Amino acid sequence: MFDLVFLGTAAAVPSAERGLPALLVAKGSSRFLIDCGEGTQRQLMRAGLGFRGLAHVLLTHAHLDHVLGLAGLLATRDLYRVDGTIEIVGSDETLAFVRRYLADTLGPEREGGYRLRAASPGPVLVRQGWRLDAFAVAHRGTESLGYRFQDEPRRPLISERLDALGVPAGPERAMLARGRAVALPDGRNIVPEMVHGVPVPGAVIAIVGDTEEIAGLVEPVRGADALVIEATFLERDAALARARGHLTAAAAARLARDAEIGELLLTHISGRYAPEEILTEAARHFPNVRVVADFDRISVSARINVSS
Ligand SMILES: [Zn+2]
Ligand SMILES: [Zn+2]
Repeated sequence: MFDLVFLGTAAAVPSAERGLPALLVAKGSSRFLIDCGEGTQRQLMRAGLGFRGLAHVLLTHAHLDHVLGLAGLLATRDLYRVDGTIEIVGSDETLAFVRRYLADTLGPEREGGYRLRAASPGPVLVRQGWRLDAFAVAHRGTESLGYRFQDEPRRPLISERLDALGVPAGPERAMLARGRAVALPDGRNIVPEMVHGVPVPGAVIAIVGDTEEIAGLVEPVRGADALVIEATFLERDAALARARGHLTAAAAARLARDAEIGELLLTHISGRYAPEEILTEAARHFPNVRVVADFDRISVSARINVSS
């Protein structure tokens, strides 16, 4: 399961209601910030989250609405004497901008309480029970990345089979649950395959910042339980969307339909439309859609419950 807290849901310019792009993804006690628009450190405070557990900022691309909050976030953290270094992850091109920007405002890496880590499409982090991968995103010629968080599938134990084989309750069952074989006192060897049921898929979330096309995203986001993606324009302004390198709500919804997404979460909302218009246009193509607002909290679990 992953928990999402939307900290900024505006496109390009902030409004009274919407901050600039920033999304917090929580996995247990680890927190990841996806993009860091201006004022993100205050949004974290207003959401009651603070800075604890936040060790990574994953950047989609280096357009100013997505990265200008980094210096403020790091400076505030430093004044609060928050321990630890923040790792800022992004493409080489994104980090080239961030390196200059932060060196000029805060000082060089480490001295400024941050460290830069280049990512490219493929694995970014592999942790016990879950992983984070990046994928390429097309947006106005930038080297943009999207991110996919994925829980590993679980293999539940079948208690009837454990009972029938005489596996006692306790450490033996815990070892089998972790995928290890156990030897019983009577000399029999029980291997996990003898007692595991059908794998239960883990939760998957896919996050795309700004983009102008959906064809290349179908496979990277396929099957996600939740897809977070921009919906800056409506179909009536499709020519403008193309010219500015952004999606329409209808295009985002067609991607969700083609990639068999669970729930579509639309963000990067322009002040030129009412959110209801965006929702209505998207829902014509994909019904399980929501236009998110600042401070919305959404927990994402795997959709399919396979019983053994
Ligand atoms: Zn943007
Ligand atoms: Zn952009």
